[in-house]
Amino acid sequence: MSRTVAEPVRTHCPYCALQCGMQLTPGPVPAPDAPAASVSAPAGREPLPVVAPRDFPTNAGGLCQKGWTSATVLGVPDRITTPLVRGADGELAAATWDEALDVITEGVRSVQAEHGPQGVAVFGGGGLTNEKAYTLGKFARTVLRTPNIDYNGRFCMSSAAAAGNRSFGADRGMPFPLTDLGGAEVVLLLGSNPAETMPPFVQHLAGAREHGGLVVLDPRRSATARLAADGQGIHLQPVPGTDMVVLLALLHVVVAEGLADRTYLAERTSGWDDVVRSVAAWWPERAETVCGVPAEELRTTARRLAAAAPSRGGRGAYVLTGRGVEQSSQGTATVTAAINLSLALGLVGREGSGYGCLTGQGNGQGGREHGQKNDQLPGYRKIDDPAAREHVAGVWGVDPAVLPGPGLPAVALLNALGTPGGPRALFVHGSNVLVSAPNADRVRERLEALDLLVVCDFVPSETARMADVVLPVTQWAEEEGTMTSLEGRVIRRRQVTTAPGEARSELWLLAELARRLGSEVSFPTDPAVVFDELARASAGGVADYSGLSHARLDAAEDAGAPGLFWPCPAPSAGEPEHPGTPRMFLDRFETPDGRARMVPVDHVGPTDDVRGDAPTYLVTGRVLQHYQSGAQTRRVPELDRIVPEPYAELHPQLGLRVGVADGARVRITSARGVVEATARWTDVVRPDTVFMPFHWSGAGSVNRITSDAVDPISSMPEFKVCAVSVSPAAHG
Ligand code: SF4
Repeated sequence: MSRTVAEPVRTHCPYCALQCGMQLTPGPVPAPDAPAASVSAPAGREPLPVVAPRDFPTNAGGLCQKGWTSATVLGVPDRITTPLVRGADGELAAATWDEALDVITEGVRSVQAEHGPQGVAVFGGGGLTNEKAYTLGKFARTVLRTPNIDYNGRFCMSSAAAAGNRSFGADRGMPFPLTDLGGAEVVLLLGSNPAETMPPFVQHLAGAREHGGLVVLDPRRSATARLAADGQGIHLQPVPGTDMVVLLALLHVVVAEGLADRTYLAERTSGWDDVVRSVAAWWPERAETVCGVPAEELRTTARRLAAAAPSRGGRGAYVLTGRGVEQSSQGTATVTAAINLSLALGLVGREGSGYGCLTGQGNGQGGREHGQKNDQLPGYRKIDDPAAREHVAGVWGVDPAVLPGPGLPAVALLNALGTPGGPRALFVHGSNVLVSAPNADRVRERLEALDLLVVCDFVPSETARMADVVLPVTQWAEEEGTMTSLEGRVIRRRQVTTAPGEARSELWLLAELARRLGSEVSFPTDPAVVFDELARASAGGVADYSGLSHARLDAAEDAGAPGLFWPCPAPSAGEPEHPGTPRMFLDRFETPDGRARMVPVDHVGPTDDVRGDAPTYLVTGRVLQHYQSGAQTRRVPELDRIVPEPYAELHPQLGLRVGVADGARVRITSARGVVEATARWTDVVRPDTVFMPFHWSGAGSVNRITSDAVDPISSMPEFKVCAVSVSPAAHG
């Protein structure tokens, strides 16, 4: 028996942080009492039809190629449908849930007995729902009692998060609705390429493009930079690793030409005088000698930005950062320089202008608010704050003293695996670190040194294939929950179909593991109930969800409000419901004195800078068709056919100099190792730079040679730039 549900279901794309609205129309849905086997064969399942409604303001009817084909991934032929356990023969083989969970329970107990609670570590993902991210953090701290939990969001926007927390006392990627950008006269995009990574975003740049005010900072003439260069703005093309110098020079011009908003600075900020001193040495002509951007372009940009500021009668200006400036060993300082510039012009905490970060992963924002980070508890609370520990411990029903303190951040955690004193067992949830982590060959070595590797995934990713136990989990259209978009908009993810075979939600498997490991802490498995607990845990924190629930989000959407913005505290008795906070900082910043902190910063340069034996910059990035490690999108034939393999972009001058022809195989060598790929000659890259997207494994997996040096404040790895030599491949 099957029932047919004709009504389309509103949900959101599973991929990036734009969380485009979409509708899925369910096909035949198995009856609830149907045996699992009758729904277990994903191969050949027809993908659910995807429709892009116009009423979700972020994408307004647009989707990118990833979004249009997102339903295909649910039914890929190699979808994992049963638990897998590695046998004595070294092969992964199908097992029952009981068998798999027994292996894990025994393995965890054994490691804990020998190495203590910190011997078990957890690596989460920025694609998990809020409910799953919250439960994972709670499981790590109350069941495993390990401090060692972090997640792949550390690789995504952690520098912007650290800078936002320091300057504003809060980190909400965009503290204003995305639609606010539409009327802006100038948008300064720093190291972001939304025309390729999130194409529906580009519609919100219409106002800036119309006014010739789209300014893109990128060493590569990306698809977004080409929009700016097309008479609709300015493309600033710095030497890789010198974004900070551009920003210091822009602020120098603002100071030198009296363009700062002195009233705003006096009323709403602290630290201005120190920041003025810090940019004195970066006049445009000097900056040009380091960053390569012509001095006049720097002056023009600063003047355009200042003229668009509302306080000077302009139509609005926004400064937005992306991975290009954040994935750096000076990432927090570079974002701070962008924030200082924004504050100097009085852009932040005003309608019609602002600073924001374009978070990348689907739930990169929510994933960092609910306790997956090594140093945080739900509500974006600090784990070493006694009041925060007491509040969250109260919600969890445990003694605050049992909660561990801060653990290792992602790169340090991965590098410590299997080392003396380091974790011996690892849970990985929704992350493919063998492709997405820097210096990935070293990560492979560390994973091989573990006593127990457990991977929860729905496809056999490169990391899953190394696991001792693989647990098949539900995905996206198979589950209920919430996500938080890059705007801080909390939205509903809805179930449209059932998961194949034995796949189960992480909420269920973590509850089951908690029980088997003897925990008395309650782990609800209904996502709505988990959300209610998450909301209570977040109450009073910076990211306060306590006024939200699945029911309220559903009702708001039915009433035409698709999602509500945090902070959204629960009302006091007799008070109306809080409406949510689309725009933050309008009255005050979340700092003790309510003022934004301006922090002086200076340029240091990349950790792995070019030199005689490695004279070329390597810059990494993304392509339209693939998402993150490519574990999902490489399995979509329509996407894979367009970009099926790694490639390296070389300027023709570089190709000629090193003897690598267009279409030939090229070898790229860094201090970490060697990769090979097909060379593509193009003048979108600088003659001193080679560019590679990072979505593949194998010989062309560029993260095998990227640097795992990290930012000292955010622990963000320096993905974006390192020094390499370029030569013909042996069989090129
Ligand atoms: Fe999905 Fe992002 Fe593409 Fe929108 S832009 S369809 S959220 S991948």
